[in-house]
Amino acid sequence: MSDQKLPSQARVVIVGGGVIGCSIAYHLTKLGWRDVLLLERHQLTSGTTWHAAGLLTTLRDTETQTKLAKYTLELYRRLAEETGQATGLIDCGSIQLAMTAAKAEEMRRGFNIARSFGVEAHEVSPAEVKKMWPLADVSDLTAAFHFPNDARANPTDVTQALARGARNGGARIIEHMPVTDILQENGRVTGVRTAAGEVKAEYVVTCCGMWTRQLARKAGVNVPLQPAEHYYLISEPIADVHPLLPILRDPGRAAYIREEAGKLMVGLFEIEAAPWAKNGVPQDFNFGDIPPDWDRMYPVIEKAMKRVPCLFDTGIKLLFCGPESFTPDHNYLMGEAPNLQNLFVAAGFNSLGILSGGGVGQVMSEWIVNGHPPMDVWSVNLRRTHRWQDNDAYLWDRTRESLGIGYQDHWPFRQWTTARNVKKGILHDRLAAAGACFGESAGWERPNWYANPGQKPEYEYQWGRQNWFENNAAEHRAVREQVGLFEQSSFAKLLVQGSDALGVLNRISTANMDVAVGRCVYTQFLNTRGGIEADLTVTRLALDQFLVVTAAFTQTHVESWIRNHVPEGAFCVLTDMTDAYAMLNIQGPRSRELLQSLSQDDFSAGAFPFATARQVRIGYQTVLALRLTYMGELGWELYIPTSFALPVYDALVAAGPAFGLKHCGLHTLNSLRMEKAYRDWSHDVGPDDTPLQSGLAFTCAWDKPGGFIGREALLEQKKAGLPKRRLVQFLLEDPKPLLYHNEPIYRNGERNGFITSAMFGHTLGAAVGLGYVSNEAGVSDEYITSGRYEIHIADRKVPAKESIQPMYDPKSARVRA
Ligand SMILES: Cc1cc2nc3c(=O)[nH]c(=O)nc-3n(C[C@H](O)[C@H](O)[C@H](O)COP(=O)(O)OP(=O)(O)OC[C@H]3O[C@@H](n4cnc5c(N)ncnc54)[C@H](O)[C@@H]3O)c2cc1C
Repeated sequence: MSDQKLPSQARVVIVGGGVIGCSIAYHLTKLGWRDVLLLERHQLTSGTTWHAAGLLTTLRDTETQTKLAKYTLELYRRLAEETGQATGLIDCGSIQLAMTAAKAEEMRRGFNIARSFGVEAHEVSPAEVKKMWPLADVSDLTAAFHFPNDARANPTDVTQALARGARNGGARIIEHMPVTDILQENGRVTGVRTAAGEVKAEYVVTCCGMWTRQLARKAGVNVPLQPAEHYYLISEPIADVHPLLPILRDPGRAAYIREEAGKLMVGLFEIEAAPWAKNGVPQDFNFGDIPPDWDRMYPVIEKAMKRVPCLFDTGIKLLFCGPESFTPDHNYLMGEAPNLQNLFVAAGFNSLGILSGGGVGQVMSEWIVNGHPPMDVWSVNLRRTHRWQDNDAYLWDRTRESLGIGYQDHWPFRQWTTARNVKKGILHDRLAAAGACFGESAGWERPNWYANPGQKPEYEYQWGRQNWFENNAAEHRAVREQVGLFEQSSFAKLLVQGSDALGVLNRISTANMDVAVGRCVYTQFLNTRGGIEADLTVTRLALDQFLVVTAAFTQTHVESWIRNHVPEGAFCVLTDMTDAYAMLNIQGPRSRELLQSLSQDDFSAGAFPFATARQVRIGYQTVLALRLTYMGELGWELYIPTSFALPVYDALVAAGPAFGLKHCGLHTLNSLRMEKAYRDWSHDVGPDDTPLQSGLAFTCAWDKPGGFIGREALLEQKKAGLPKRRLVQFLLEDPKPLLYHNEPIYRNGERNGFITSAMFGHTLGAAVGLGYVSNEAGVSDEYITSGRYEIHIADRKVPAKESIQPMYDPKSARVRA
């Protein structure tokens, strides 16, 4: 244990002195916080940081992660001069290699996106790669992309520089001081316990690398990560190998290659990885490594070495194996714990902790100081995880796949293959018999599309139309022309009750919740900046009882948002009813006839208007029916007590043929909602987008008593004039190419925004997308409609029509039929 004296209190205690903890300490002091205490179990960097390869590559999957990587590189560039501690940064650039046409298409799309996020990148020929990398075999390349500004650094030196910067700013760092517990009172963190005593603190940040799950769990906080073996080898010295050789990133060979002191380092991302430390990470694992599994790794090494064949004639000096943390969706885990105020987490970096460490420090420190992150970080937010993910067997199995996923083909609609079948709805077997091809979201197995008789319900991935394209088209048509059945039991169903339930929900909702019993209300929850934290429906079941329904993946976030806004002493109780109800969504112009044929209750427009809810009888069962749609048609969501679900489903399916009923999957839900321009939270709208920008201001009850959170920010935005960006619907003029998301939008030949979500619109006849159009002077209707638009897809720009109103049924006549 340290002989340094432990203070009895600090404003913030950071637990863990790897690159992440030191970066957070550094950035907090930059924001003017002095009373910052970092406690490290052993020595700085002694966990995972010390043995990282130090690649600083900026092309990432999302805008957020690209921004974090770009900022990190800029920071590391200036850190040595600022702190006097060298960082070993070498401006060597990087090259991404594609060995197949599919990978070339994926990279070309990624490369356009990276450029639209401000990363410098150029497509280069195999011959140019050879010029930059004479030892490389380029004979199997179909394409390559050069990122001249990428670099590498020495992770230990970077961390020491951040620590020095933090100390210079007033932070205290104490090594050899393991934190044994996180202290809390009334749902709020109050400090930490160590062997040398307790430290009281307003904030605690756990960035203990692979130990984070173990420590956070003691405080009841779920941080689903799992360490795995992670390898690189170092060759013997090789002539002509020099530090400025660009890093080769070679997904086809599941490897990267870079120079290391006159030798080559070959890093490996094997397709099937080996999770590590089944019984927990040992507390005394300091500057540790793992004995390499040569038998398992040899084929992986051999495949990688073929990129630089001289490696076969050079000895391997070292095969290094160290543990790194991986997460179930291969994204980091950052932010405030959903169930413990002021406990922050930053862990699970999936072998990207060095290259994102600077950005992570910046985001976390602003999050702590300002109460919110400086940008939309949903894709890495801890709140996207679920309590059930704190399961050893699940994490172990998923990690086999997640380590290598970054180097695999990133096919559109790609599904995880490991750790499946966590949650199955009660209708699962019936749906499988109907041909469902299941995908996974939040652990739920959900039908994405249905195979025809004789067709295998399996994805055949490719860029362009996949094997289920026509299935989707037929399902889509059925909903537009007759009636479709969607199984959506995965949707989170939260019952909010109590004499203060109305007050709580009304304060956090843009819409007015003080409606008649039996009304369904579409609303957003906003943060104080007017950004959209949730986009959902609330149904008033009784004067003091509301049903909140939200997408499965948002459950933890929405639950925690509601709970955290219940004032002390208020009587408002939230109960998760998700597993108590199955949900069947019956949508399409013949849905009324179908339901009416099975029920004594009146489904006519007069008796059952849009946005209302009733208990209705279907056969012998009584279910809650909500007349709502996310597909743009007449339809009802049926919330069915689980024990009633099988007979209700059977009755619907038996009656269905007379009305053209077809089973439909979630891909069809998506293609239908895109045509109607219904927004998807986390893609089209999120914490950085306001209703004014995203065309959702119609939900705002501006004058309701007590207002709503975010109202003042929206009024300020209104006062400032036209929004600087607005969400617009696009339809490609060419029916062939497909859109997915992130494709750059060009207005009058200039890059303007990017597609936030997209799908093929089978009624409109081409790919449809949503995306923001920006203009510093404000985006008027005229600005939108006067532009000439193109969408950049891989290597060409495709003209697109724009629309402010939904292109499908703009007046919603079908919805209100
Ligand atoms: C072989 C290999 C190559 C890699 N290459 C790269 C690369 O090229 N680029 C890249 O970006 N990333 C790379 N990584 C990943 C990178 O090393 C990690 O993502 C990063 O180091 C994680 O930093 P951290 O601060 O989260 O964790 P750590 O470095 O593990 O730091 C956590 C610290 O917390 C301390 N701690 C734990 N429990 C407690 C406690 N109870 N009390 C006090 N202190 C505690 C530990 O001692 C440790 O020092 C690589 C990883 C490996 C294994």
